[in-house]
Amino acid sequence: MNIHEYQAKQLLVRFGAPVAQGHPATSVEEARKAAEALPGPLWVVKSQIHAGGRGKGRFKELPETAKGGVRLARSVDEVVRHAQEMLGNTLVTAQTGPEGKQVNRLYIEDGADIARELYLSLLVNRETGRVAFVVSTEGGMDIEQVAEETPEAIHQFDIDPLTGVTDEDANAIADALQLNEQARVDMIQLARSLYEAFTAKDMSMLEINPLIVMDDDSTQVMNRGRLRVLDAKVSFDGNALFRHPDIREMRDLTEEDEKEIEASKHDLAYIALDGNIGCMVNGAGLAMATMDIIKLYGGEPANFLDVGGGASREKVTAAFKIITADPNVKGILVNIFGGIMRCDVIAEGVVAAVRDVGLKVPLVVRLEGTNVEKGKKILDESGLDITSADDLDDAAKKITDAVKKG
Ligand code: ADP
Ligand code: MG
Repeated sequence: MNIHEYQAKQLLVRFGAPVAQGHPATSVEEARKAAEALPGPLWVVKSQIHAGGRGKGRFKELPETAKGGVRLARSVDEVVRHAQEMLGNTLVTAQTGPEGKQVNRLYIEDGADIARELYLSLLVNRETGRVAFVVSTEGGMDIEQVAEETPEAIHQFDIDPLTGVTDEDANAIADALQLNEQARVDMIQLARSLYEAFTAKDMSMLEINPLIVMDDDSTQVMNRGRLRVLDAKVSFDGNALFRHPDIREMRDLTEEDEKEIEASKHDLAYIALDGNIGCMVNGAGLAMATMDIIKLYGGEPANFLDVGGGASREKVTAAFKIITADPNVKGILVNIFGGIMRCDVIAEGVVAAVRDVGLKVPLVVRLEGTNVEKGKKILDESGLDITSADDLDDAAKKITDAVKKG
C-alpha cells in the first residue's frame, strides 16, 4: 500500500525526522489558508498523487510552457494562482503512464534554501534479509538513471537487526554522502529515526529524494547546514497492514485501480496489467507460470489473479466478474490445479459467473487435479461456449489463437 507525500511526512515527523512545515489542501481557499499559515518568503505547491517525477511532469490541460507538478511561489497570491491551475487537472509524469493522474490534493510547504540534493532510501535487502540504506550524492534525479549511468555513485549499507543503526553505520552513510559538520551530526539522528519508522510500521520502501543540506546563508538561520527531508515516498507491506490500523486509514482509494479495490474486498490477489488475456489461476506460482506461457505464445496477460488455495464458488464468481469488467479483456484463460481446491467447485463457479455476467469473449479452461472429471462434466453439460484444454501449453495456445482471430 502506498501513501501520499504529505502523509509520509506527517508520519516521519512522529519519529523525529526533520521535515518542513506544510499543510494539505483540497481547494484553492484551503491552499490560501495553508500558505498564510507558513512564514514565507518561499512556498512550494506540490501535487499529491501516488507517483514520482512530479516536478518534471506536465499537466494535460495546460500549455507545454506551463510549469510542472511541483512549483515554487514567492507570495501567497502566487500560491493561489498555482493552486487554481493545478487542482482538478491531470498530471502526467514518467511514472503515471500516458493517461496521467488527476490532482485532487495539494501540499503547501515551506520552501527550503537548498545547498545540496542527496538520495537516501531504505528497503529490504533480500539477499541478506536485512534493512538496507541506499544512498547517493546524486539526489533529485531518477535513481534508476543514476544506477544505469554511474552505479559507483550508489552506496548500500545493511543494518544489523540486533544493534539497529550504530554510530559507525551513520558515519559510513555520512561519508558516502560527503556530509560535514552539522549535517554529519544530523545524520546519526535521521538514520535512527528512519530505521525506527521503517521497522515499526512494516514499510517495504521509504525513499527520500531529495534529502537536502540547507544553504549556509539560508534565511532560516537555525537550519543553516542542516539536513531536511524534502520528498518522501513510502510503501507498506500489505501483509502486515492488519496490525497497523493507523496506516490503513491513510489509504486513498481514488489512487488505486478500481478492479484491485474490488478484488481486495474478496481477498483475491489481483494486479491489473496492460494486455488483453484475462487470467484466473490458483496459486501465485502457477499464476506467474501462466503469464509466462501466454507471453511465450505471443499473447499479453491483462492481469495477475490468484484466487488462492481454498477458493469458494463465490470467490471464483467475484474473480470472474472482475476480469470480465475490464474492457481490454479479449479472451479469458482459467487455469486451475485442484489440490486443496476441487475442480468441480471451480467449474460451478465459472458456470455460475458466466450465467450471471454473460460471456462476450472466448473462454479457455484448463482443469487438473481433484475431481477433474466431475469438473469437466459440469463445463460440458453447461451448454456454454467453453473451450477446454488438456495442459498448460494447449491452454495458452488455444487462448492466444482465439484472441488473435477475434
Ligand atoms: P518529485 O520527485 O515528484 O518531482 P519532489 O518533492 O522531489 O517531487 O520535488 C521536486 C523538486 O522540487 C526537488 O528536487 C526540489 O528541488 C524541489 N522542491 C521540492 N520541495 C521543495 C521545498 N520544500 N523547498 C524547495 N524546493 C523544493
Ligand atoms: Mg522527489
